[in-house]
This record gives sequence, structure tokens and C-alpha cells, in this order.
Amino acid sequence: MRAVVYRGVNDLRVETVPVPQIGKNELLVKVAVCGVCPTDIKKIHYGTVLPPRIFGHETAGTIVKIGSGISALLTKNSKLKIQNLKIGDRVALHHHVPCLKCHYCRHRAFAQCETYKRTGITAGFEPAGGGFAEYVRVMDFVLPGVVKIPARNSFEEGAMLEPVNTVLKAVKRLNLLRGDNVLVAGQGPIGLMFTKILQLRGINVLATDLLESRLKLAKKFGAKWTQLVESRETNGESKKKSALDPRPSTLDAAIIAVPSDAAVKQAIQLVRGAGQILLFAHTKRGDELKIDPSAICFDEKDLIGSYSSDFTIQKEVAQLVFSRKLDVRQLITHRFPLEKTADAIVLAGKPTEDSLKITVRRDSVEP
Ligand SMILES: [Zn+2]
Ligand SMILES: [Zn+2]
Repeated sequence: MRAVVYRGVNDLRVETVPVPQIGKNELLVKVAVCGVCPTDIKKIHYGTVLPPRIFGHETAGTIVKIGSGISALLTKNSKLKIQNLKIGDRVALHHHVPCLKCHYCRHRAFAQCETYKRTGITAGFEPAGGGFAEYVRVMDFVLPGVVKIPARNSFEEGAMLEPVNTVLKAVKRLNLLRGDNVLVAGQGPIGLMFTKILQLRGINVLATDLLESRLKLAKKFGAKWTQLVESRETNGESKKKSALDPRPSTLDAAIIAVPSDAAVKQAIQLVRGAGQILLFAHTKRGDELKIDPSAICFDEKDLIGSYSSDFTIQKEVAQLVFSRKLDVRQLITHRFPLEKTADAIVLAGKPTEDSLKITVRRDSVEP
């Protein structure tokens, strides 16, 4: 089969590799679509993991082979329910599933669970998602994360469950009440998902971005206020504040969906006492940020983070996406064939005025 193999920093090659063999409790899925995710881009740009690997973890496709032991697993009574799966099912995959038993899981810190940290989907080499290939092997411990895609929904919508899950999980980390004002810094695909999910919960969103085109979309996604930011690393907010669009007098929380330290500092100042500042995009290790700790002690502001997904909210995520209350179709602007995955990664790493979510597809069938 064809696969895009990571061979080193910024080195992705289209290669022919064997179709993965599956074990008795595993599935083989023919990939239809895989979303390009910033966490993969970082690994490719900075070489934070050893090659060779096949990336891509926002995967949807069709089950083409089922291991002989799966039917026994389906009837097993466990907390980790597996959907009734059969050959031909159109499914969305989840490459991380927690054990639900360990210390971290009992504290609902699923992303820290050892089982969760293992990647259960591969197209070969060290498991890394494998979505940038024609077929993936789905291991037994991630079977509870397999979600069937309703007939009316597309593979692309299925592929968006994973990123939407990470966003909904983060929203649930905030103590918000209807009518609260929340800053969402960054209106890329993730920021726009935040904006919409918050709006659906009755929250007033102040959306900021460097690109005017994204602010227009933020309005469509339910932002109450928008504000253009000139450059995050110089002095932050723009002076071009629109008189028609005043920002709220208080902010109850801030979500930083861009890896900008200036945005964090500014959010800590802007949020009212006892408000929360959530970091969503600061995944690169080794940076330092100077803050005034009295904002945390005296003003009782919480600086928190959220990473990756929460398996237990998957049903709610599927409902949100498949009902189109959060219509992810509007987020996908570019579709690349598998062979052009490297170009897709370059574009996703350097967004343009008209680019949002980028997907890679196996062939030009249905979206
Ligand atoms: Zn992702
Ligand atoms: Zn666990």
C-alpha cells in the first residue's frame, strides 16, 4: 500500500509499505480521510520523535477486516463498551483510549494514563496514528474508541471527532455560567470550535486573531465580539478597535488557542479575579514565561491547561458533530491527495487567509 513515511525532520516520503497484519482482537480499516493536526506538524518540524513513523490520527474509513476474537470482545461486559462492529462499517477512529482504572483515570486525568499514552493505531513502524496511509491496523485497547459514522454524515465529519473532543474536554475544565464572557485567542479550526461550543452553552465569546478572514468566520461561529490582533509577539492587541464592536468590560475566562506567550500574559491581566486562563496550544517543551504570581494567589486566577481528548465524552462529541450543531464541514478548506501529504503539512503549518482545517484523502470519493 501507499503510505507517507516520516524519515526525519521535515522529511516525508511517499513509500510502498506492507498492508498491516491484524491480530485476533484487531481491525483493519481502509482510510478514507485523515485530518492534519498541529501536534503532528510539530513532531515533523522539530523532529521530537524518532523516525520512521507514519503519522495522522484524525482518521475515518471503512472496516475491511475483523479479527476472529472481536465478537467475543463485543459481548464482554466491561466499562469500556465497544460498538457492534462489522465489515463495511464507516467509522471514526480514536488512537488513544484510557484504562479507566489507574490513579490518573480515577482523577479523570486521562491524558496522563499510561495506557492512554500508547498509540493504538498504526500503518507500520512505531505506532503513530497511521492515517497518512491507505490502511491502518486498530489494536484491541482502542476498540472502545471506534465510533460508527451515521449514513448521512461524511468521513470528514467523522475525522473531526478527535479534535472536537479535545476542545469539548477543555471547555469542561472551565467553571463557566451562562452569560459569562470568554476570550478565545486564535480563530484557527480549533479556536472556531471553541467559539461555537461556548456559544452553544450561552457564553459570550470575544474572538481574536491575526487574520481578518478568520474573525469574519468567528462571527458566523457565534462570537459576540471580534478583535484583530496585529502581532502577538510585539504589543498584543490592535489599535484598530472597532467602535461598533466594543469588547466586554469583564472577562470571566480566556482560552489561549495559539502558542503565544504574549497572549497568555495579556489574558492573565484581562481576566477578572477568580477567572481562569486555559492554555491549549503550548505543547512545545522548554519555553519560559514570566508571570506575576500574585495574580494567582491574591486575585485567585487559575492558570490551567488541557491536552488531548476525554474518551468518556465521546458520545456527546459525536452528537455535537453528527447533528451538525457544530458544523465541522465549514472548517475544512483544503483537501490533499495522500501523495501530497507533505504539501498539506506545509500549508497547515503556515496558514493563509483562506486556509483552516486541512485533510488528506486516500482517493477522490465522497468527502
Ligand atoms: Zn489531533
Ligand atoms: Zn488509566
